[in-house]
Amino acid sequence: MIQTDEKNTTPAAMTEAVERVLGGVEWISDTEGFVRCPGESDHSHRNGRKDCKVYLDRIPTITCFHSSCEEAVKSKNAELRVALSAPARLNGSNPRRRSPEEKARLIELNRKESIRRRARNSRDAVLRDFRWPVSQITKASPDVIPAMPAEQWRMHLGLFAPEDVVWIGDIFDSGKPEHTASFRRREEWTSFESAPGSFTCPAVFKEGSFARSNDNVLARRFLVVESDILKKDEVGAIFRWLKEQARLRLRAIVDTGGKSLHGWFDYPGEAEMADLRLILPEWDCDPKLFTPSQPVRLAGAFRTEKNAWQTLLFLDGKEGAR
Ligand SMILES: [Zn+2]
Repeated sequence: MIQTDEKNTTPAAMTEAVERVLGGVEWISDTEGFVRCPGESDHSHRNGRKDCKVYLDRIPTITCFHSSCEEAVKSKNAELRVALSAPARLNGSNPRRRSPEEKARLIELNRKESIRRRARNSRDAVLRDFRWPVSQITKASPDVIPAMPAEQWRMHLGLFAPEDVVWIGDIFDSGKPEHTASFRRREEWTSFESAPGSFTCPAVFKEGSFARSNDNVLARRFLVVESDILKKDEVGAIFRWLKEQARLRLRAIVDTGGKSLHGWFDYPGEAEMADLRLILPEWDCDPKLFTPSQPVRLAGAFRTEKNAWQTLLFLDGKEGAR
């Protein structure tokens, strides 16, 4: 599992138990967080997000700024202390016996929610601590990128193996037998004079494919990460976090000629992907790119409607692990 917030070292079993009793907790440290008051309906004044707090440092306790909820808070405290002192019974505040399947499902749901919450809470810190603006990205590129954008597409395609069947074309060049021409081996594409199309795909296809469907995907070579929300000078922080903290191998960063950058990473294992599917959307990164057959922009093609080139900012084309 990927740790998104190193400060939050409260054991997962403990935080899960607390969250089962109290609902979602907005953790602010290892031992403190804001919760929804169990007696909120009794509050005689307006509710604030920070009215009710849980402390785990000594005797696990929730306290609320309001006084009208005293009874509800008191009984919740009793429940919380029982839950935290009886690990065998942590699987639910509901006394009904749960089946092993239900327990497993509940644990899994809690695990996922906990990853999402940690990601949500660490978003601003990641954007700040891993800041990687475009000017620094270009300086950090391991491979020298040709200054002329029109010369960059071969290098971009060079990330695929020579025998990989790669799709290149426009979005709709897929689905009919005549679109076989958009699926060629990489070595065949690189013999073209100029960029053969505006889009490619981070997955490779079975021989003879003419549709860019998930069924025809032979293997996922790359994970492409982008954000429709983060600015070009912001999204680099996410790429850098993936590279340095999640240990993904960053292969390329492409400026789409529009508003966004695409980070190309070697496709990680499914276990890692399962966590990234939870984390990245919390950081405003686009979940549609988790679909293997999604088209993405090829560097070195000209984007007519924006009157701009799609360019490579960073490239690491060397073989093998780094
Ligand atoms: Zn209260």
